[in-house]
Amino acid sequence: MSLLVLGSIALDTVKTPVEERLELFGGTASYATISASFFTRSHLVAIIGDDFPKEYLEDFKQRNIDLSGLQIVPGKTFRWSGEYFNNMNNRKTHSTDLNVFANFTPTLPKAYRELPFILLANIGPDLQLHVLDQLQAPRFVIADTMNLWINIARADLVKLCKRIDLLSINDSEARELTEENNLIKAGALLRAMGPQYVVIKKGEHGCYLFGPDQFFSCPAYPLENIKDPTGAGDAFAGGLAGYLASHSNDSNSKKPVDFETLQQAVVYGSIMASFTVESFGPDRLRSVKQEEIEERWQAFKKLSAF
Ligand code: AMP
Repeated sequence: MSLLVLGSIALDTVKTPVEERLELFGGTASYATISASFFTRSHLVAIIGDDFPKEYLEDFKQRNIDLSGLQIVPGKTFRWSGEYFNNMNNRKTHSTDLNVFANFTPTLPKAYRELPFILLANIGPDLQLHVLDQLQAPRFVIADTMNLWINIARADLVKLCKRIDLLSINDSEARELTEENNLIKAGALLRAMGPQYVVIKKGEHGCYLFGPDQFFSCPAYPLENIKDPTGAGDAFAGGLAGYLASHSNDSNSKKPVDFETLQQAVVYGSIMASFTVESFGPDRLRSVKQEEIEERWQAFKKLSAF
């Protein structure tokens, strides 16, 4: 089954303790759809300005990503800049310029409204709700968010949580949203806000998956050299959503996915995130080969079995 992906398409400026790169191909929908493209076909909902490089658009096309929900308008593409410090888990956002995203209230193409699997990648929760409102009968809705929205749009985020099946969030955001330091308690509190499943991402320490009476702890792939963590969360969500969409139960089944499939999806998400952080921007993710995904799947099995 195919997947609707809403999120940002951006030009990112990223600084690490070692290097700074300007105007990289970025955005939550970019990382998510590129990652999902290894598992299923995505239908993109996003907006870009007329300054967006053609070569990146070509990349979406070559991956068979449906661009009928992508608007290209006069003006500037979304821009974000951030900096990582010695511990690559800590990030400071320097600027977020929504530009063409500021007035983006998309009307979905008709074919998109019937799509069963939905990934609302990180973007304003008002926009995530606006897209959700247009869907006829989504079977499984995944949403991601970030600290900015917890701080400036909490009420919409709370509304959104009531209408999704899985929330993907990182550890510091989970703590902020629930005001609970213990991540096991925070997972339960987030589930109580609405989603049946919650994933709390812990960077280099892997992630937790919480379900009804179920819990799974997924390690991170051990990497010695992390170049740029940007987009890891989105590639994680794209891999997870893409895998679920292509391994879901048939539409007659009451449950679109079962917990075992979700565990596998979380491992594939972690694999895609592990490639993402190995280069600045999505270059490494873009060049991944199916055999490399399979190799890391085997490595994950080994490192978590005893
Ligand atoms: P991640 O590292 O997975 O949290 O996501 C990084 C990506 O999120 C970058 O490519 C940014 O362009 C994008 N991004 C940063 N801030 C926002 C925001 N407020 N809304 C949407 N996308 C954002």
